[in-house]
Amino acid sequence: MKLVFLQIHTFFYNIRYFNTSNTRMGRKTNNPSTKLDAKVPLLKISLEDLSSSLEEILSSNFSSVNVSVVDCPDLTLAPFNLISRGLGGSPRIVDVGGPGKAFPNIDTTPYNLADICKTAELPKCMAIGPGAGSIRQLGYNTELVHNAYIAPNDQSKFGSYIISLKEPTSESPKPYAVGQLTDSTAEEFSLLSSLLLTEGKPGKVIKIEAKNRTGPENFVTQMRLGLAKKYGTQPVGLGGVILIRSGKVKLHIMPELPKERFKSKEDMYKWLAHFVMDAPLTCASVFISHDPGLDLRLEHTHCFSDHGDGGHYQHDVTPNTVHYEAYFTPAEYLYRIDRVSF
Ligand code: ZN
Repeated sequence: MKLVFLQIHTFFYNIRYFNTSNTRMGRKTNNPSTKLDAKVPLLKISLEDLSSSLEEILSSNFSSVNVSVVDCPDLTLAPFNLISRGLGGSPRIVDVGGPGKAFPNIDTTPYNLADICKTAELPKCMAIGPGAGSIRQLGYNTELVHNAYIAPNDQSKFGSYIISLKEPTSESPKPYAVGQLTDSTAEEFSLLSSLLLTEGKPGKVIKIEAKNRTGPENFVTQMRLGLAKKYGTQPVGLGGVILIRSGKVKLHIMPELPKERFKSKEDMYKWLAHFVMDAPLTCASVFISHDPGLDLRLEHTHCFSDHGDGGHYQHDVTPNTVHYEAYFTPAEYLYRIDRVSF
């Protein structure tokens, strides 16, 4: 069976919509990781222009903002603690699955990160970003921070972080814990992921520092909305790492999936466990300024730490003391895999 696609040309970009049945090497497959629904070129903006845009955008929400173009710091060092050195080389955003995998029906068919990288035309890559850990492999539901270097012939390296709920004990009184997956368990995930794939090389990135929040939006939302206002329906996508240097942050952690279906979306939101946690936190973040009709997760950020705190970032709760330091790269393409509406 031939891969059928329809090219839709617009003034600024063209989206390649692929057919909805899974195809690989001309054969039908049930592997959702190979189900490429669309490939979208993202708006190309110079790092210098993006840097000045973000400085202006963030200045209306933070009293102290500094954005510049720098060499990417070595991300293998603390406090980043990632597998690959930099964010350079063929950057692309990959949106896989979505909350529609948990409502109205629950579908925990696993995804495979190496297959995802192949589908996104970068079989050898650094993969970072938020997701949900493999329920099949772990036996329970987790927030996931992908941190992997995928390579052929068993050369892949893993250091992904998982955050899950647990019973408090006297030695470990928090009702949640952060763990790390350093083996191929981290190659599989469930439900959804918002990934940044790159070659993991050194290179120029945008450094953003923002302190003392004066507006209502969280750090990522402010950047996303500002870019959407500036560039309209031309999608701009960024991925990278955020260090929350100081302050307190509201995060959520998914509990176990229910045995019965959620009754409503509201029911699903209420199911999430919310916590206020402490900086310092290291976070992997991906955001896109505009959804060209692909059921995208427009922003997604997951955090981890070495003091047991982590989860899905919502917003800081200490505007006067919060301090964000972030390193982002603009992506060249967006790949939508196993699209699901919500
Ligand atoms: Zn999340």
